[in-house]
Amino acid sequence: MERRHEGRVVLITGAAQGIGQAIAERFARDGANVIAGDLGPPTETARLVEAHGVRCVAATVDVRRQSSLDAVVAEALARFGRIDTVVANAGIIAAAPLWEMTDETFTSILDVNVAGSWRTLKAATPSLIERGSGSVIVIGSIQSRVARKRLAAYTTSKHALLGLVKAAALELADHNVRVNAVLPGVIATPMVANSTSGHATDEGFRRMAALRNRSALDPGVIGAAISWLASDDAAEITGVELPVDAGSLILPGVNEFPVVE
Ligand code: NAD
Repeated sequence: MERRHEGRVVLITGAAQGIGQAIAERFARDGANVIAGDLGPPTETARLVEAHGVRCVAATVDVRRQSSLDAVVAEALARFGRIDTVVANAGIIAAAPLWEMTDETFTSILDVNVAGSWRTLKAATPSLIERGSGSVIVIGSIQSRVARKRLAAYTTSKHALLGLVKAAALELADHNVRVNAVLPGVIATPMVANSTSGHATDEGFRRMAALRNRSALDPGVIGAAISWLASDDAAEITGVELPVDAGSLILPGVNEFPVVE
């Protein structure tokens, strides 16, 4: 099989499980060395990555802190000398009517999902600019396009990321660095299946997760799309939003499902 990222280096946030882990594994399969960051060192991801004969740095990274991202970028450059692809994947979710959501929940979702992605770009893009090449992929959601009841903060955050992607694509185009968004549909991950992501602990979310999980896609489909989008085959693609959702955004009634009372 073609190893399209042979010798390259990918940095992924939120890589301990779910979509981030699947992205790491896919890039490893495609020949890339991986820097996998998460709130604790993603050792299981490192094991999966290294099984493909590439190297992995399992790093503690908190996207709420710029210093944490600066440190992992410095470590990546020290270990591998380059970063080719950056995937801003770390994200959190919580469900509640917007009039009941606490200030802390709303601001923490914006902090991790939006500012966290910006901080990731802020830390990594100078090295991409210096090399005059690279690709950045930000993980949005179908909630970058459509709202869902009880997900006002998450929907706001994922819409905002599209603005970040457009602005970054524009600013980095002169440096031959591409910036794109991938918008996953409903993917079978801990965030959706059993709400282990910390913030999604209310009963309504658990019911929604159970509903969603019946139609969830394998996270490998996101890894495959991102590996392609970061590859030379997509060299002229920048500033786009790519849904990977089995067409759910074009289905009538997508906004009504699932209904959470
Ligand atoms: P998940 O909860 O299974 O995994 C998210 C990972 O991010 C976890 O390992 C968590 O520890 C990490 N994380 C959380 N806060 C962090 C922080 N401050 N710093 C560093 N890491 C942090 O979720 P997932 O389903 O794999 O989601 C990954 C991304 O995909 C998120 O941005 C999510 O919004 C997006 N997404 C998921 C779905 C889905 O259906 N699962 C759909 C659309 C978009």
